[in-house]
Amino acid sequence: MSLHVIREILNKEAFSKDDLKVLLSANEEDRNLIFEKAARIKKENVGNKVYFRGLIEYSNRCAKNCYYCGVRSGNAKVQRYSMTDEEVLDAARFALENHFASIVIQAGELFSRVHVLKIGELLLKIKELSQGKLGITLSLGEQTEETYRYWYECGAHRYLLRIETSNPELYRKIHPENKLHSFESRLKALYDLRKTGYQVGTGVMIGLPFQTLDDLAGDLIFFKEFDIDMAGMGPYIEHEDTPLYQYRHLLMPRIERFYLSLKMVALLRILMPDINIAATTAMQTIDPQGREKALMVGANVIMPNLTPLKYRENYLLYQDKPCIDEEAQECQHCLEARIYMAGCEIGWDEWGDSLHFKRKIESQKQ
Ligand code: SAH
Ligand code: SF4
Repeated sequence: MSLHVIREILNKEAFSKDDLKVLLSANEEDRNLIFEKAARIKKENVGNKVYFRGLIEYSNRCAKNCYYCGVRSGNAKVQRYSMTDEEVLDAARFALENHFASIVIQAGELFSRVHVLKIGELLLKIKELSQGKLGITLSLGEQTEETYRYWYECGAHRYLLRIETSNPELYRKIHPENKLHSFESRLKALYDLRKTGYQVGTGVMIGLPFQTLDDLAGDLIFFKEFDIDMAGMGPYIEHEDTPLYQYRHLLMPRIERFYLSLKMVALLRILMPDINIAATTAMQTIDPQGREKALMVGANVIMPNLTPLKYRENYLLYQDKPCIDEEAQECQHCLEARIYMAGCEIGWDEWGDSLHFKRKIESQKQ
């Protein structure tokens, strides 16, 4: 594809699915045009601030068996853990004292009453210890509308639930075929979250076996149509103890998955100028400067890991996950320097809520 064609598409008011496919296939030379446009749109709309969300990987216990994930219930090699209340509160305190302003509580998907109440209790305690100052995002999978509402009332106000792929057929290929893993339930959960009042974040894995550019273009259109507030996307990274590993010969080289992910981030920024987009850890897995590169082409959120070291090797959703042997403090210093090098500023003590969400709420009031 020539530079001319890419430029012409980028100048359009709106992109068709075919346009998006052409942009996603841009080569090394051409993709810089996309990145430059995305960087400009980011600067004009959300500025150069990066917001930190301290990531607490609360538990690797999971009732699900997603074919791609290292902590799936069928993987007997994983030693299961849940953090104690004290450990969760310590991590929250660390975030507060280090001016992160927000945390994310993530875990496998569990539905027991004990789990639901435990999360509620932790939310209330975190709100109390931070006197309401810490913003809280949850990433705890599909739950009932009642559970989502209960956690919202306890103080969570953002939720991340990736659609993983917006193509129901591909979704079926990467999940077991049963009620627990249905595409329709996934969609319903996203609508329930929206109804409850959360800022809703979703995303996909990029470079999955069987995935096409048509699928990825469809994912971008899905984000726009669902009108998401936040996004977290990253390359799919194979894990040898998962069923999807047998298809590794179908994968594109990791570096290509990385650049495709960067193009997805940049295109999403162009399509949705005022949402929050995370520079994900999976990007850093392939390129040590992956997250900074994502910041430069459109991302504006980073999730430094605050999980105690002793648990990190058991929370390997994928292999080669970086920073599994660095304490939060060390991570923070290296991260700060990298962010400034990428030309960004850190929004210390700011929640950095999705501007898109705020505008939506404002316009509903009028
Ligand atoms: N259980 C929750 C949260 C933990 S999993 C949930 O499923 O929503 C968080 C994300 O990790 C998933 O949404 C998935 O997109 C990502 N993930 C899992 N396995 C992965 C892999 N092999 N490569 C890249 N990302 C993966
Ligand atoms: Fe469980 Fe989430 Fe992994 Fe699926 S992706 S197995 S729900 S932790």
